[in-house]
Amino acid sequence: MEIASTRGVCPVCGKNATLKCGNCRREFYCDKSHQSRDWPRHRSACIAWEIGRDADLGRYLLATRDLAPGDAILSEAPLVWGPSTHATQRLCVGCGKRCNDDIDMRCGVCRWPACRSNCEGLSDKKRHESECALLARARIIPRCEVLLVIRMLILWRTKSKRWTSLANLQSHEGSRGPGTDAHDEVTSISQHLGPLLMAFDCQDILPKICGLIDVNALETMPPEGSMAIYENASLLEHSCVANTRHSFRIDDKGRPRITVYAVTSIKKGEHLSTMYTHALWSTRIRREHLLVTKYFACRCKRCADPTELGTHLGTLKCPCKNGLMLPNDPLNSNTDWSCNVCPGIVTASEVAQLMDRLEEEVTGIMKQATEHTLSDLLSRLTVLLHPGHQHCISVSHSLIQLLPPNDPRKLELCKLILNTVTRLDPHGARLALYTAVTLRELASCPDEDRQAHLFRAASLLKMEPLDSPGQKLLRLVEMELCSL
Ligand SMILES: [Zn+2]
Ligand SMILES: [Zn+2]
Ligand SMILES: [Zn+2]
Ligand SMILES: [Zn+2]
Ligand SMILES: [Zn+2]
Ligand SMILES: [Zn+2]
Repeated sequence: MEIASTRGVCPVCGKNATLKCGNCRREFYCDKSHQSRDWPRHRSACIAWEIGRDADLGRYLLATRDLAPGDAILSEAPLVWGPSTHATQRLCVGCGKRCNDDIDMRCGVCRWPACRSNCEGLSDKKRHESECALLARARIIPRCEVLLVIRMLILWRTKSKRWTSLANLQSHEGSRGPGTDAHDEVTSISQHLGPLLMAFDCQDILPKICGLIDVNALETMPPEGSMAIYENASLLEHSCVANTRHSFRIDDKGRPRITVYAVTSIKKGEHLSTMYTHALWSTRIRREHLLVTKYFACRCKRCADPTELGTHLGTLKCPCKNGLMLPNDPLNSNTDWSCNVCPGIVTASEVAQLMDRLEEEVTGIMKQATEHTLSDLLSRLTVLLHPGHQHCISVSHSLIQLLPPNDPRKLELCKLILNTVTRLDPHGARLALYTAVTLRELASCPDEDRQAHLFRAASLLKMEPLDSPGQKLLRLVEMELCSL
């Protein structure tokens, strides 16, 4: 949805121009010198955001002009990045790409995993070379999940400007004291990094670094499996109906540069938001996850609506068989749930117990899913849960991919899933792949407008990152469209 024009008129000299302002993509220049000469004037029209301050939220971003869907809002390189702190794969210490598991390739100096022996990131001063000697000396077992912490320790120790920006972000250390999972994690990282921490004399800064990562780091793609912290993009506040999406690309220095786009029309002065949880988790799960990982109690319009915008993602069926069980106060995790027909009530802990039990069952069966086991599971779930419930949707999404096109359940389930994703993510900002898979299954059903569904699937997938499963599906869908 980016503005399609590729040329314009330079505002300085009036000549035809093809150099586009990389930030707003709305102004063209004949060359770099006229671009910088125009900057004092263009600046206020170009930058679409500013930092606001609020006693509860801390710093946040707001729009300084009206934005249309697809507008680029901001683009920046990370302050620091590295393998995710929950990385399970080996990622290259030079470039962040996934290493081949069959060959034990390593950096020749520090012996940390590398994608290939001559990866250009390994000898790049701005990337691995500056940390390589330290890693070689530190005698830490090379485990990718601590590399980001080490990189931040180096920024702290060298009093880098980037550390100053990092230290300004929230780290919520007050909520991460003894007895919390976060505290246990810091202890275990501290044991792993023992020799380095001794050498640096930096035990005290470790809890802050871990807090900064947990609260601010965004998962990147590409490179897959890494995390990055951004000076401004990390200030985007959470909303379960977020108004921005973002994508990453590797810049000429090998870093994952983020670009944040508007997904809806945003009015001047509105807060800019992103989503830090899974869009298809129900409110109870999302809010708990946000509270535990981001120390944030979401009160967005989706969280405040007991039906979750009419999707019933968390709704249970009442044993009376006629009514639905909904939370009385969805913003209170201890709330009772009541039937909308009879006087029946269940407590929050009864709901939690039932959900834990069902989740275990769903996870178990999804591991060895067949058409039969999934159909069977879905009919048992729908006795207890609304058909739009999170568990029913996830089982349905697997089942539609196994049902033959002429099975009437396939059509019905595809429509149910599309109804849910359209309400939660009308612009395909979070669930593009999920939705496209559903549209492709729907396209195979008899009497459906095959071309229209495949076309919509393709347009949703166009924004998916390079080399991602979404791009692979896009190629398949485009082939199918061609053969119609
Ligand atoms: Zn010019
Ligand atoms: Zn601009
Ligand atoms: Zn590499
Ligand atoms: Zn090295
Ligand atoms: Zn919310
Ligand atoms: Zn009832």
